Amino acid sequence: MRIVTSGQMKKIEENALHYALSYERMMENAGSAAAAAIRRRADISGRYITIFCGRGNNGGDGFVAARRLYESGANVAVILTDGAPKTGQAAVMLERIGDMDIAVVAYGEDQPYLTQRLAETDILIDAIYGTGFHGELDERHRDICRLINGVDTETYALDIPSGVNADTGWADECAVRADATVVFDSDKPATAMPAAADWCGEVIVADIGIPPEAHEGIERQFTLVDAAYVFGRLPRRRRDTHKGDYGKLLNVAGSQQYMGAAVLSTLAAMRTGAGYVTLASTKEVCRTVLPLLPEAVMRPLRQNPDGSLSWQAMDELRSAMERATAILIGNGLGTGEDAVRIVSEVLKTASCPVVVDADGINALARNINILKRARCDVILTPHLAELSRLTTLPVEQLKADVLTAGRALACEYGVTVVLKGAYTLTAGPDGRVWINTTGNAGLAKAGSGDVLAGIIGALTAQGHNAPEAAACGVWLHGLAGDYAADSHSQYAMLARDVIDALPLVFADH
Ligand code: ADP
Ligand code: ADP
Ligand code: MG
Repeated sequence: MRIVTSGQMKKIEENALHYALSYERMMENAGSAAAAAIRRRADISGRYITIFCGRGNNGGDGFVAARRLYESGANVAVILTDGAPKTGQAAVMLERIGDMDIAVVAYGEDQPYLTQRLAETDILIDAIYGTGFHGELDERHRDICRLINGVDTETYALDIPSGVNADTGWADECAVRADATVVFDSDKPATAMPAAADWCGEVIVADIGIPPEAHEGIERQFTLVDAAYVFGRLPRRRRDTHKGDYGKLLNVAGSQQYMGAAVLSTLAAMRTGAGYVTLASTKEVCRTVLPLLPEAVMRPLRQNPDGSLSWQAMDELRSAMERATAILIGNGLGTGEDAVRIVSEVLKTASCPVVVDADGINALARNINILKRARCDVILTPHLAELSRLTTLPVEQLKADVLTAGRALACEYGVTVVLKGAYTLTAGPDGRVWINTTGNAGLAKAGSGDVLAGIIGALTAQGHNAPEAAACGVWLHGLAGDYAADSHSQYAMLARDVIDALPLVFADH
């Protein structure tokens, strides 16, 4: 899947001008392609089609679709939501409707007509805003979108539903909810994000005649992760190798209160191909969990009276760090003063990649500038509440648009950020984004995140670069979760079932 941002799409269209493709021609092609896509899905002859057109280029695409659908025998009406077109090519397309028997009515001018028309309409088309939309809908457009959403009939959006930001997936509370979106030339980030499916519906990519050459030099910022992507990157297990070739993960995890987090993260890492996994934890945790982790190396360290890792353990931890090819820190560590100091010290001194999850993130939230002092690759795996602590942005804002905040964090500190949620996104230090599609609500249970952290830790220890290890780990974790749901149900599945499904995920591919 090819995903381009709205800015990149502008550049691609500009490039296309060098291949004898005018803006007018592209608009003709877009509107015609949308009409063709609709014709393929529905018999339109004699049907009533109503098209809401804005005054930008999206409206222009709508005028072309109107003409094409009319020519195919539909009864077509155009509602101008914002008056006359403001771009030259859109104005041309409105003119081309000419004296065809297509009603062109300004919104707000003849309310009884519109009410009657919508009652008769079989197919609605939203061409109000396209990828040029940013900010929020104003009240007038909210009313229009509410009107569209209130009509119980098949609704198509051109390029992107109005009120949805094409680059971030943010949707206005009243954004158009389409049954299908005809996106031009390439997917846009929002049409590729499962989180935006409620607005986009089925996504149909329509060719508008732009030659492949016009895409040259456009660096992909968004990647949709799939099986081919992941298994094309996992290290093959060559016959003439030994455990030292598959990395050494040092997992700093666990405290008296959270022993399970240490077990789950360690087990998940061992099930994801790492040559060695060492659990560095308190004496008590190591002694207690040993029977569950016979393949792991134990590093029992000094503990505080409350059963958490002691700052006194730092020297020993440092020597363990020397041998590691990656470090995972934070799962079940607790939030005491010593844990905070240990996390800071590890980040400041590590010479291999460090994955920071859970209480590691909570520790970082106390002083995020530590990240500026890290000389290693860092992967953070926050859920929304943890991201809110890291960025001091309210959870509500992050819920509406996690990508903008996550990318800003990744770029500012030069780290990889896994934005965990129902639809996880991964932001790399250079602003690139990976979109995940695996996983299900059975993962919404304590312990799932510890499993993910172990998986990402193991991939990183095996030498994957940080953002790719994170993106691949998220995909594998989600797929293992899907396998676990198949065999155990979303209700009954446990984090440990996700680990148990990892062998099947690897065996199947
Ligand atoms: P373009 O004509 O740039 O391809 P669209 O057709 O997608 O863009 O959008 C129509 C116009 O609406 C653009 O000129 C854009 O600047 C404007 N616009 C974008 N977002 C908003 C908003 N939230 N409220 C009002 N106008 C907007
Ligand atoms: P814990 O700290 O208890 O182990 P986290 O909240 O850190 O759990 O992580 C939960 C994991 O489960 C994340 O990878 C998240 O993406 C995934 N997850 C949670 N809810 C859902 C959901 N509804 N659909 C898919 N994945 C989910
Ligand atoms: Mg967690």
